[in-house]
Amino acid sequence: MRRCGVGFVLVVLMSAQLPAAEVSVEAIEKLPAVQRAEEFFLRESGWILQQQIRITSIAAPPFEEEERARYLEEQFRTLGLENVRRDTIGNVLGERPGSDPEHIVLIAAHVDTVFPRGTEIEVRREGNRWIAPGIADNGAGLAALLALIAAAQESQLRTRATLLFVANVGEEGEGNLRGMKELFADSALRRRVRAVIVIDGSNAERLTSKALGSNRFQVIIRGPGGHSWADFGLPNPIQALARIITRMTAVQIPTQPRTSFNVGEIHGGTAVNAVPYWASLKVDIRSEMESEIERLEYALRQAVAEGLAEENAAARTQGAPLEAEIRSLGRRPAGELPPTARILEVFRAVDQHLGIETNIQRSSTDANIPISLGIEAVAVGGGGRSGASHSLREWYDPTGRELGLKRILLSLILLAGVEE
Ligand SMILES: [Zn+2]
Repeated sequence: MRRCGVGFVLVVLMSAQLPAAEVSVEAIEKLPAVQRAEEFFLRESGWILQQQIRITSIAAPPFEEEERARYLEEQFRTLGLENVRRDTIGNVLGERPGSDPEHIVLIAAHVDTVFPRGTEIEVRREGNRWIAPGIADNGAGLAALLALIAAAQESQLRTRATLLFVANVGEEGEGNLRGMKELFADSALRRRVRAVIVIDGSNAERLTSKALGSNRFQVIIRGPGGHSWADFGLPNPIQALARIITRMTAVQIPTQPRTSFNVGEIHGGTAVNAVPYWASLKVDIRSEMESEIERLEYALRQAVAEGLAEENAAARTQGAPLEAEIRSLGRRPAGELPPTARILEVFRAVDQHLGIETNIQRSSTDANIPISLGIEAVAVGGGGRSGASHSLREWYDPTGRELGLKRILLSLILLAGVEE
């Protein structure tokens, strides 16, 4: 890293849109406000952990995030954010106004967990590990969000861009990124957001800049149904599914871009001696490229139409024909930041400065939404270590958490610009 004098620092810091390569992380780190913020992470590590335990203890099953969201809203207010509010879908928003309110850097962590209502969530300790479902995903992310807010407030950090902090709903599974989708449906906000940092889980090396897209469907076939002997020859929904699946498995799946197709569930029928009156299957389509997801969706619809027509045409008994319904189970857009994206330059520079080996990943996160809209976004961990994610044995170890927090703080300052 280049060392530089105060004059250089001022020039750089006054120009929020300069390419990151010209910005020295060292220079940023010397600013008194940044030093105070970094000290905060170490000094208040106990407070940060207590917040994480408190948040984790409030159940937040998919579509039932309200109680935890209310707690976070209260914390946003206590920490002194402005314009704290909950939007119609349940996202909690709070702002730290910058000197240039036309620009926003958005920092988000999801509120929901994968665990259903009634899951035992008492947080237990085993040595350095804290164990509870959701303690890391996303207890660690939400604790990091509060830590960043508190550190920025206490250090009186003054940024150029406004910092918009969001605790969003609906990241996991069937939540289908609905919190992020709602947020970015607002065109006024979309125009002002310059960068998005999503904090999810722990792990300070992680940098997800590639959005894995997916599309999921349920195909339901319904028909008259009847007796296996007396009504033999009626069109059969299970046989129709077999014809559909045979067609789908014949579709070419590329390895580049990496793409997958899976029939993951199949249900239907009532008895061995009955022609079923319904049957259904569930399909999961994933790809690195949006056009492949669309191509496979088209292939699925065609397979359903053809398989159904074939089964109906094969009927030997008069009766109502089979009908098909295709239900969407959730859509997550694919996308990828260009390697020259400013947010990647910033994180690479910060990681180099902190001695972190950047681990670029592709996965499905809240960052999918802004990335698919052409807005620079990454998902990162909030620091510390964790394991057994999405299980009852999920654990979190806060050792070294301050490194992950420092990494996010320095990156967001570089992205937002600072007034000193
Ligand atoms: Zn998560």
